[in-house]
Amino acid sequence: MSEELKRRIVELEKELEAIKKESCEGRRGREKIEQMSSEVVDANPYSRLMALKRMGIVDNYEQIREFAVAVVGVGGVGSVAAEMLTRCGIGKLLLFDYDKVELANMNRLFYQPHQAGLSKVEAAARTLVSINPDVTIECHNYNITTVDNFDHFMGRIRSGSLTDGPVDLVLSCVDNFEARMAINTACNELGQTWFESGVAENAVSGHIQLVIPGELACFACAPPLIVASGIDEKTLKRDGVCAASLPTTMGVVSGLLVQNTLKYLLKFGNVTHYLGYSSLQDFFPTMSMKPNPSCDDSYCRHQSGGRDGTGEPEKELVQGVRLAYSRDEPAPPPPTVDAPAAADTSDQTSLDDLRAQMMAL
Ligand SMILES: [Zn+2]
Repeated sequence: MSEELKRRIVELEKELEAIKKESCEGRRGREKIEQMSSEVVDANPYSRLMALKRMGIVDNYEQIREFAVAVVGVGGVGSVAAEMLTRCGIGKLLLFDYDKVELANMNRLFYQPHQAGLSKVEAAARTLVSINPDVTIECHNYNITTVDNFDHFMGRIRSGSLTDGPVDLVLSCVDNFEARMAINTACNELGQTWFESGVAENAVSGHIQLVIPGELACFACAPPLIVASGIDEKTLKRDGVCAASLPTTMGVVSGLLVQNTLKYLLKFGNVTHYLGYSSLQDFFPTMSMKPNPSCDDSYCRHQSGGRDGTGEPEKELVQGVRLAYSRDEPAPPPPTVDAPAAADTSDQTSLDDLRAQMMAL
């Protein structure tokens, strides 16, 4: 080998070393911060968040570091929700998903083309840690609906907090009925509060729904109409039929989901029980549904019977859904049934909207 070639190799090696170092440092981002500070300096990543205290919105912002949130499904909604919580300085995130990043996901937010082929939880964890190294990230690359994984999933919900206790909230950001039912089953048994979320397959509407076992209807109390009417989900979700998705709708639903998560955890404002989003009419229906005393889930029946002390059946499901949409008869606990944003929209419209959303699940 000529001297010239050797010299060139040494040069290139040095160059490569420098590039590697730069990229590692770039990815590392910043050092960990021991304590959240309100100090107003450009280098403080929490100054704008801690200002919520000064503005009288939140009393205890720094408490966010004590909370653990499980995000089940880190696709179009879950990944963005996880990023928002990371930027807000949440204590710990537990991510569950078994999909891989694909180029077909690039119409949505969060993932980048160079991550194609990586598992979603792994890719998400790397990005989230680089944004905020103060957040503890725990990843589970599996399908929660299989028997073994379901047991493990329940175990992490039961003892996945920063102090090995139950997580503070579960966010369901999955895209199918089985996974929602698995989350519902686990949370009913554990008495775990969770938020359901969903975006319709036509990409233009979505919803979030708070489930507090025993206090608010669970996912099995008011099953989607496709189940109630006996239509097989598989005939609606045929192979090769590509669901539409928009980064806008998913961004709105993620934003609504995390906004309510922050309100729930930090105890400010009103936490929504159900909030729909229909983008074509800019319509945001809200409602509240009590548990169905004849729910198929025995833990749900037990939890609601235990709370009101009677456990007696009150209403049939259909009547319950009707009640939830009747503005004359508010359903406890508050906030109950809000008037929709558009004053001239009839009850029929909001019910149709709910039906459409449920059909699209
Ligand atoms: Zn139920």
